[in-house]
Amino acid sequence: MKHTILMIEDNEQNRYLATYLLEKNGYTVISAPDGPSGLEIARSLAPGLILLDIQLPLMDGYAVARALRQIEAHHRTPIVAVTSYAMVGDREKALEAGCDGYVEKPINPDTFVADIARFISPRPKPTDRP
Ligand code: MN
Repeated sequence: MKHTILMIEDNEQNRYLATYLLEKNGYTVISAPDGPSGLEIARSLAPGLILLDIQLPLMDGYAVARALRQIEAHHRTPIVAVTSYAMVGDREKALEAGCDGYVEKPINPDTFVADIARFISPRPKPTDRP
């Protein structure tokens, strides 16, 4: 399910905007408002990428990233943290927790989808096709 994205994000406006932008570009988005429900979905779904907010209730994003990496099916699933612009230290901590990269909050509607897409294995180029 390369074009399915699991989004773990507690802020409804951010969920709405990110879902709108991604779905407009052909992705299917499944979202969860906190870490435990996101992990539950991740155990039964094979998304092409997981978008992970860092500031979450119940479990923070670092704990969620570590727990995701404990799930065998997600040892290599791209995980992209969503971190606040001001919180510079968050990025290093997110990478240490197992994330592959990060995008900054607030989401920039002009660059968000492209920023996410580069973490998903690229579609075949026309020249690669038989
Ligand atoms: Mn949050």
